[in-house]
Amino acid sequence: MSKQIKVAIVGAGPAGIYAGNILSNQYPDVEIDLFDSLPAPYGLIRYGVAPDHPRIKGIVNSLHEMLNDGKIRFYGNVTFGTDLTLDDIKKHYHAVIFATGAIKDAQLNIPGIGLDGSYGAADFVAWYDGHPDYPRTWPLEAKQVAVLGNGNVALDVARVLAKHADDLLSTDIPANVYEGLKSSPVTDVHVFGRRGPANIKFTPIELRELGEVEDVDIVLYEKDFPDGWFDEDAEGVTNQHKVMARILDSWRERELTGASRRLHLHFYSTPVEILGDEKVSGIKFQRTGTDEFFEQEVQAVYRAIGYFGSALPQIPFDEKLGVITNQGGRVADGIYATGWIKRGPVGLIGHTKSDATETIENLVADIPNLMDPVAPGEAIKTLTERGVQFTDWHGWLKLNAHEQSLGEKVNRERIKVVDRDEQVRISRA
Ligand code: NAP
Repeated sequence: MSKQIKVAIVGAGPAGIYAGNILSNQYPDVEIDLFDSLPAPYGLIRYGVAPDHPRIKGIVNSLHEMLNDGKIRFYGNVTFGTDLTLDDIKKHYHAVIFATGAIKDAQLNIPGIGLDGSYGAADFVAWYDGHPDYPRTWPLEAKQVAVLGNGNVALDVARVLAKHADDLLSTDIPANVYEGLKSSPVTDVHVFGRRGPANIKFTPIELRELGEVEDVDIVLYEKDFPDGWFDEDAEGVTNQHKVMARILDSWRERELTGASRRLHLHFYSTPVEILGDEKVSGIKFQRTGTDEFFEQEVQAVYRAIGYFGSALPQIPFDEKLGVITNQGGRVADGIYATGWIKRGPVGLIGHTKSDATETIENLVADIPNLMDPVAPGEAIKTLTERGVQFTDWHGWLKLNAHEQSLGEKVNRERIKVVDRDEQVRISRA
């Protein structure tokens, strides 16, 4: 008979759930408690994926199955380091896996970055996805906006800014987000990449979708597309690049329709300074690889230049890379990491599966040498004694049903409850 082990996972996003699922399949003699600081599960899917991406949000269905079969027990509203410390974990579990992701914006150290109207994309995403720990209002006063970066987050932010709020009404956006976007006077969203159009980090489906937004014209600039701008045979060119090159070329041929909003794609634009006294009034770029500088008038700047992980109390952290220091997911005896906090914030949601596979293989190989808990499996008792208002799977099912019923009344699939206390109250009722 194999050894019975109890494992805690911290972070109930896709990375944590995949890790739990792979572990319970690979080593059935395990009991898994899955903790999250938020009252609801699903991490990045609930609070990072754009509301108008139902296909990606749909991954929730398979994650739901993984949590619903009872092998992994979800506990929300539990903050690691305060409600549940590393010492508690050592007392109650043989191993812990951190899957806390990366939710902060990478820094961009240029003059003016601290001006009013200069924002991190991650904060804006958290706002439009109704994250409970972010302000309920977002200052959408700019007519012209710059979005920095050529990754999918830049596309999400640019699309949500450019879209008419009514076209988001079929999604789960909270009422405050709809009201905020509805009042936006934006007319022009300028996306700036520091490299050329052959070096974008977008993916084809997400890029194509940009050209299909209602009442938004895509504007490209011919100076960014010299003859032979895309070399199919260049090193590193993938099929995805080829598809995206065709999409960009087809947009170059398009006539503007006179739409009320425009989405401009600029390339070879390295940001050097955000201009303004107190508020953003423009942004200055260097044309990449040249001595040429130029300015663009904007009243807001969103930097979408990558996410960054946050350190956890008592867990070794690489400040430069923003990840938990680890070797193939191994952090220390009985301590593991998986997902973006293990390898950094790149890759699609499905990629965290292969990540989890590696971490779990190492954990299972280490079973003889894991931690030695004195009171295995009693963490929930500890939380209860401390008066922690934790939520659980049944609580989530209630909150889920509540959000769906809010949506049903107005013919929408769901309307998210934003407030943390309200989520906890509904879950624990
Ligand atoms: P990303 O794909 O790494 O893109 C970051 C972008 O920021 C790159 O274009 C990068 O340019 C640029 N950048 C970095 N530092 C810069 C600087 N100092 N100045 C100007 N530009 C700078 O990251 P992401 O957009 O945050 O996305 C993270 C991951 O999530 C990606 O794998 C992405 O595909 C995924 N995601 C997917 C979806 C979806 O809908 N499928 C949505 C959101 C995110 P260089 O290339 O020159 O470094």
